[in-house]
Parts: sequence; C-alpha cells; structure tokens
Amino acid sequence: MNFLIDTDKKEYFDNNNKTLLDSLYTEKVNDFLALNYCPYQVGEFRNFSCTIGHMVCVRLGDLALCPCHRTSYDKYLFGKFTVKNNEIVGIQANNVQLASAIYLTNTLIKPKCNDCPISLMCMKGCLGCQYENTNDIFYPVESVCNLFKVTFLFLNLKFQKMMKEDNITITLYPALMKLNTIIHKLLESEEGFLPWVEYIQNLI
Ligand code: SF4
Ligand code: SF4
Repeated sequence: MNFLIDTDKKEYFDNNNKTLLDSLYTEKVNDFLALNYCPYQVGEFRNFSCTIGHMVCVRLGDLALCPCHRTSYDKYLFGKFTVKNNEIVGIQANNVQLASAIYLTNTLIKPKCNDCPISLMCMKGCLGCQYENTNDIFYPVESVCNLFKVTFLFLNLKFQKMMKEDNITITLYPALMKLNTIIHKLLESEEGFLPWVEYIQNLI
C-alpha cells in the first residue's frame, strides 16, 4: 500500500499530497469513510461489507444460489433454480436459514465485532475463510482481524504523515478524523499494536 500510494501520488497527482487526499476524500464520500486502498467497501455498514451481505451469487454450472464463491459448499447453498425444457421454472430451497442469518445480520451485535475498536470500518470478517479455518462460519479469525487492524493503522499513519508534510489540516477530511479517532481507540485498548506504529513509521 505504501508503494501504491507513493506511486499514485507521483504518477497522477504531481507528487502533491493535498491533491491526492482531495481526490480520495471529497465531500460526497467523506460520510462513508471511503478509505481507498482497501480491498472492500469501507463504511458504517450494519452487515458484511463484502458482496456476501448484499448480493446473491448464482453458480452458472448448476444454477445453485450460493452465499458467495468461497462459501459455495453444498450445505451452505441457499437453493437452486429448477429448470424444465431449458427454462427456469422455480427454486428449490436448501439452506434458507443461512440466507436469513447472513442478510439479517446486524454486525453491531455480532459476537467479537460488537466490541471491536475498528468495527465501524471493518468488513466484519470473511465467512469463507472463517469456515475453512475454524469450522465456524460466523466467528472472525484472529489473524485476519489483526490484518484488518494493521491495514487501518498503516493508512492512518500514512495519511497523517502526508498531512503533516504539507501543513494540511485534518478538519478538511472528516473521514480521516474518524479514522484517527478509531485508531486511537485501537491503540488504547490493544497494546499489542503499539510496536507496529514504530515499524510503520520507519517504513513510510
Ligand atoms: S477486526 Fe475482527 S472483530 Fe473487529 S470488526 Fe473486523 S472482523 Fe470483527
Ligand atoms: S465472505 Fe469472503 S469470499 Fe465471500 S464475498 Fe465475503 S470476502 Fe469474499
């Protein structure tokens, strides 16, 4: 990400910190904590912010309705379109309970995420990864949580440094103010991340 941000700045923004930050955090996207350089949509979602919380995945080979590509195990299929004379004529149910558990999840009360300092901006775990690692589709994997936390810690330190270099005031970017507050909470509540601050500062 460090390389990406530096390269973007150099190639597309005349090596100018403010121009790059302005392009990321316009008024329109500020409310949504649009922290680019994340592999998923970031925002104050009450559901999973990857596609699993918002879309149905249809497996073209057999027209099965899957939660997503990585969770398309037989026991997790929501159902399957039924076909007659080459036309879809109905749907056969399979695991409808899982569909309602996923689509109606409120991640503010989801175990582990409910009292996590970064829950406002996190995608709340990958259900496929969780199932494959722990056999529990809904409970976040610690190593993945740590990756999310260090990602946001990095972004905060990087953007803070860019603002400091050019005397840019953070009040221009409400999204970055929120990010900064959340990272302070993270460092206060989980001291294990403190050594990462020095490591990242040396890197950027
Ligand atoms: S870091 Fe882990 S516990 Fe925290 S919100 Fe994300 S998935 Fe949930
Ligand atoms: S649960 Fe994991 S694999 Fe499925 S859409 Fe979300 S991030 Fe991707």
